[in-house]
Amino acid sequence: MTLDLSQYASENGVKYFMISFTDLFGGQRAKLVPAEAIADMQENGAGFAGFATWLDLTPAHPDLFAVPDPSSVIQLPWKKDVAWVAADCVMEDKPVEQAPRVLLKKLIAEAAGKGLRVKTGVEPEFFLISQDGSKISDEFDTAEKPCYDQQAVMRRYDVIAEICDYMLELGWKPYQNDHEDANGQFEMNWEYDDALQTADKHSFFKFMVKSVAEKHGLRATFMPKPFKGLTGNGCHAHISVWDTDGKVNAFADKGMDFGLSAQGRTFLGGIMKHASALAAVTNPTVNSYKRINAPRTISGATWAPNTVTWTGNNRTHMVRVPGPGRFELRLPDGAVNPYLLQAIIIAAGLSGIRTSADPGPHHNIDMYRDGHTITDAPKLPLNLLDALREYEKDTELQQAMGTEFSSAYLKLKQGEWNTYCSQFTSWEHDTTLDV
Ligand code: ADP
Ligand code: MG
Ligand code: MG
Ligand code: MG
Ligand code: MG
Repeated sequence: MTLDLSQYASENGVKYFMISFTDLFGGQRAKLVPAEAIADMQENGAGFAGFATWLDLTPAHPDLFAVPDPSSVIQLPWKKDVAWVAADCVMEDKPVEQAPRVLLKKLIAEAAGKGLRVKTGVEPEFFLISQDGSKISDEFDTAEKPCYDQQAVMRRYDVIAEICDYMLELGWKPYQNDHEDANGQFEMNWEYDDALQTADKHSFFKFMVKSVAEKHGLRATFMPKPFKGLTGNGCHAHISVWDTDGKVNAFADKGMDFGLSAQGRTFLGGIMKHASALAAVTNPTVNSYKRINAPRTISGATWAPNTVTWTGNNRTHMVRVPGPGRFELRLPDGAVNPYLLQAIIIAAGLSGIRTSADPGPHHNIDMYRDGHTITDAPKLPLNLLDALREYEKDTELQQAMGTEFSSAYLKLKQGEWNTYCSQFTSWEHDTTLDV
């Protein structure tokens, strides 16, 4: 039965709903709607001028309506007057096909049509920095190998524990929090879920981390590589596929290599085959490529891949199979759009199943030391333009993601690349002045 938001408001003391949708650049857009007005909005959605967001719409398009999905509602644990609710974009009663949450739901339905249910967990790393964004917020956090630093994580206990308490309260089953591999960097993990739920939680997590950090006079950033020389913000995704009841893991087969079933291998085959193109989505910014093609960081390793390879339990490859019945995609970064991340994994994976794609041989080597010996695997794109061109070439992936999305995304991202190229940098000036 559909939850009645108006009733939810009176039962929980909610005064405002934040009707929220995510555009193609991952921006979270919202209207704050008083509980008195939510009944109509639940039915018809909140109105937006679509051109004012990144959805490739024009000022002449009719109103965009964000229709709340009541099953996603979350009362803000840090501001109980307000409840966040994820919304799906509709225009003239038709779904807006390129809108990320709409697209993800379409791909989930496609998987369900094949009797499959994708479950994923994400690891969105972040930095706690100064409010002006110029430096990490803890001046004592200077260790060369700061990962798991006990003293440094305790200096941020008030922020980390507050966020973890909220996840406990929301029933997300968080299970660990740590200081990560860069000075000022943290990771918090909660239990995996169905792809749509994980995408909603991932969106909400970013909103929550930023909000709590601000409350404590800090700023949180998920930027892929905010500081040169320090490990960047990854957003690894762990993926398994189940039967529609969610009871049997279709990826698990003890008799197969790494405990990954034949179907799991073809799904992985799809990820491997489309990797260079899907990077345009999993690594969506100019800055993203400073993480995946980075020289060794101060800590000794970037922990990010640069080549399309897979392996068992070894963190130097693009895909790791940490245990039976699932694999980890280590490519995505903190800038990834939570909905497009899940959508592109499903699109590439289903394409792999459809074409019986073979993931190719796995490699057991230390990629950071011996990666140069691999000659049979493509290098990941070197920059955003490279990735966009790979996506443009990959018609199979474009079709799997839908033509509305693919053309809108390529157009907007190429525009972003062009804006970047029109910047004059001091490096350019310094190195070219005396030619
Ligand atoms: P690591 O840092 O070793 O990669 P983490 O513990 O930080 O691992 O994150 C692992 C993520 O994988 C969590 O979100 C976890 O719930 C998720 N996960 C565990 N098992 C599965 C599974 N079978 N399918 C999908 N995700 C899973
Ligand atoms: Mg107005
Ligand atoms: Mg982790
Ligand atoms: Mg990590
Ligand atoms: Mg990981």
